[in-house]
Amino acid sequence: MIVDYHMHLRNEREEIAHDTRSVEPFVDAARAAGVDEIGFTEHAYYFSQLRALWSVPYQTERCVYDLDAYVDAVLEARERNLPVKLGLELDYVPGREDETRALLELYPWDYLLGSVHFIDGLGIDSAPRLADEVGVEEMWRRYFEMLGRAARSRLFDSLSHPDLPKIFGDRVEFDYTEICDAIAESGVAVEVSTAGLRKPVGEPYPHPEFLGACRERGIPVTTGSDAHVPRLVGQDFDQALELLRSAGYETVTVLERRQGRQEPLG
Ligand SMILES: [Zn+2]
Ligand SMILES: [Zn+2]
Repeated sequence: MIVDYHMHLRNEREEIAHDTRSVEPFVDAARAAGVDEIGFTEHAYYFSQLRALWSVPYQTERCVYDLDAYVDAVLEARERNLPVKLGLELDYVPGREDETRALLELYPWDYLLGSVHFIDGLGIDSAPRLADEVGVEEMWRRYFEMLGRAARSRLFDSLSHPDLPKIFGDRVEFDYTEICDAIAESGVAVEVSTAGLRKPVGEPYPHPEFLGACRERGIPVTTGSDAHVPRLVGQDFDQALELLRSAGYETVTVLERRQGRQEPLG
């Protein structure tokens, strides 16, 4: 089984297109790439129903779309027997766990991806950047602290691009023990993402040592391309599978109505 569980429902020009017609090119691209099932995970900060959660300008400026239209578009495609799942890429907002849970339980998600794109109002992968304010080493420390909190919140089914701070090539030597212990305790999966191959860092998320530490602890995985246009669905998945196999993974997590099960990888 091959799943691509991270993509944004857009048209070929990367413009928001939250309608069922726009699902079809993603399904076609998945078939062409040998992907069995896809899941849509639009950024939660685009949706006005979730406006109360957001405070960073990057999020509030974009918060003008209708969550019901997005959910209906994906559910209608599923009713037509297209192999699609309903998900969301949700920024973890520390201290707002109960509110996040209450807002999201109104919808029939198959899964929620947990992301840390901002800390204290500053971006990990967007300007103004946290690294410019506090330095690379401190960015990594704060990022993993926040990712650990996101894991322990149990709001999420999988943690997206789990070593995102490396996106522009900013690296530090890192001991993954503490973060992987937190992830393992919480039961959340981690995402192996090919998006990093298209970024300056030029490698998948997460680093092989990070993934190896996950494998040692029996942490389950999902896979994703983070496609913002249909043609990127399943892109470079041969490299994702190779990374997973070399870490010792033989299964991938298939998610449905927030329940995960393991299926043979490939
Ligand atoms: Zn993301
Ligand atoms: Zn994404």
